[in-house]
Amino acid sequence: MLEIKHTICPSCSVGCGINIVSSEGRVLGTYPYKRHPINEGKNCLNGRASIEQFEKRIRYPALIKNDELVESDYDSIFGIIKDKLDSIDSEELCIICSGKNTIEELEAIRKFAEEYGTDKIGFYGYNFPNFDFDVASYDDISDAKTILAIGDILRDNPLIGRRVIISKEKGGTLISVDTVEKSNTSLNSAEYIKVDSITEFLKDLGYIKSKLDNESVILINKMENKDDFNILKELSIETGAKLLPVFKEANIKGAMEILPSLDAEEIREFVSNSKAIITVNATPLDFLSADDFKGRFIMNVSNFEDDFTKLSDLVLPGKTWVEKSGTFINAEGLRQDFISSVNSNDENLSEIEIFVNLLNLNYR
Ligand code: SF4
Repeated sequence: MLEIKHTICPSCSVGCGINIVSSEGRVLGTYPYKRHPINEGKNCLNGRASIEQFEKRIRYPALIKNDELVESDYDSIFGIIKDKLDSIDSEELCIICSGKNTIEELEAIRKFAEEYGTDKIGFYGYNFPNFDFDVASYDDISDAKTILAIGDILRDNPLIGRRVIISKEKGGTLISVDTVEKSNTSLNSAEYIKVDSITEFLKDLGYIKSKLDNESVILINKMENKDDFNILKELSIETGAKLLPVFKEANIKGAMEILPSLDAEEIREFVSNSKAIITVNATPLDFLSADDFKGRFIMNVSNFEDDFTKLSDLVLPGKTWVEKSGTFINAEGLRQDFISSVNSNDENLSEIEIFVNLLNLNYR
């Protein structure tokens, strides 16, 4: 029997609704959810491709031997983890989470870290620091007279891009800034400023200040370092333009409410001072090298095989996105609860169950 269930797209932080079509534990496709206020039934290619994760998922806990997954069981794996965590000082464990984790998962992981006794915990925030000021809403984008876009918003976050196009259709002006020769956003801009680095661009803002006022929005999905974000914040305060950071992962804004947003250097520092590492739905080779992890015991909580799996000592698979219930907070700060849209009948523990089990191991 076909089932259609509603959930939230995990492939960027816009927070689009998406319907999952399934039958007897198999994901068959997606279907437009026309009444969703953010995207009115439209999903980009990245969003629709998110369902491909499901068929590729890891279906059992495993040890890694000679770069291959060797099926194991929870009792054995939790036994290995307990032995390892008993053998090190608590501050020699670091935990790298991600913006793919739900609010509830992050709270369970933080609780485990506190009980075990490590404060080396955070997530990769793509060079955006933690912040808590009010950001522009998606309606502000549609109504903006001027939009300054830093990064390729139209390619990476098409359902925000749609709001940019609505602003243009109402007479708004799009100015974009990026380091590439051309991009989807640059091709749709009234003015494109090609720069060698975003940091360089932010050093001289005299010209761009004259273009911005309180009917403007600054959109940014690309940061080179955390300090740049403070310059953009000042630019926003000085000109009255509203600021909207748009993230690569669905729940980075939610993660910022719970854990420190770390850059590559901060995570490298954590790793270099640790003997054991737990990663949770993270892709550390996007920002560190394999050498950074040499000699560390890696416990990888992840549904999918990638190059980092081969560096790991063991894998605990958790649940895939379509099997999860939980909460994401999207780029504009909207809290979005969603429930599981497919029951795979796998026996994998959820991420929350994994960390509850780890919490109950009675270390030392
Ligand atoms: S814009 Fe982002 S949230 Fe919306 S469908 Fe595309 S990837 Fe998913």
